Amino acid sequence: MRYAELEKILSKKLLHGRVEIIGQSVAKRYIYSVNFDFGSQKTVIIQAGIHAREYITCDLVCKLIADFDKNFTFHKLKCCPNVIFVPMVNPDGVELCQVGLKSVRNLQKRKFLLSINGPDFSLYKANLNGVDLNTNFDARWGSGAENCLLPSSQGCIGPSPMSEPEVQALATLTKQVKPFFTISYHCKGEVIYYEFYNKKENLKRDKKIAKIVSRCTGYKLVNVMATSSGGYKDWCVMRLGIPSVTIEVGKDRLHHPLKEKHLKQIYRRNKNILKILPKIEREFDNGLHEAGT
Ligand SMILES: [Zn+2]
Repeated sequence: MRYAELEKILSKKLLHGRVEIIGQSVAKRYIYSVNFDFGSQKTVIIQAGIHAREYITCDLVCKLIADFDKNFTFHKLKCCPNVIFVPMVNPDGVELCQVGLKSVRNLQKRKFLLSINGPDFSLYKANLNGVDLNTNFDARWGSGAENCLLPSSQGCIGPSPMSEPEVQALATLTKQVKPFFTISYHCKGEVIYYEFYNKKENLKRDKKIAKIVSRCTGYKLVNVMATSSGGYKDWCVMRLGIPSVTIEVGKDRLHHPLKEKHLKQIYRRNKNILKILPKIEREFDNGLHEAGT
């Protein structure tokens, strides 16, 4: 999905979803959220497109937004928690990946990007500063196995934790909303990560919640911590104590960037994700009881 397509979808009137701007990218593109308010005390954040070449996840989240809008009454009857979707966290990267340097107006920036990546941007993951946004969060920042300090198409942690505007936008939203659960969509591999230095008292609860997501999607739960660090999920789990999952969609044998023809299969595996949110909320509440708080 291109950025213009996202804007077109969001400009059409949603019946129940409210579109908001949560920040701007390096090139000043808007970062949008779509908020569904069921009048609940609790909120879930679902984000996608933080890695440029994984823009198929933006398509997926837009389909979920359309589903939610259409079935709002059903979800309300089921006591669904409020949901905030951030369908494209890294709009500059998503554009760069799909149309190359001509998506970048600033000539200095073009030269810089060419120098760190070469002319083919189809596998690019970072933002326009050459920072991998999913390593820039303040959670064991810089300790990942593939982290690097110099700007690059992937893996660069940035000059300091939370230095990037896209990361700041998502972090600010998260701190304001205080979600009880977050989902980060990435690709690929059909696996789910949920561990990252979880507080001891949260681990059992977080695993139970991740298991619900695993049963719903059919994706395997990975019980070991990824060798990465500084991701959004990592920050939510470690710093804020929020149970969170990274869902890697798409079969591992597929090549990046995943194509639109793969969306159908990916959607099929994820289309029920919104239906399990009330169950996840109950599991979260049970966790609170068990912890005696
Ligand atoms: Zn990713």
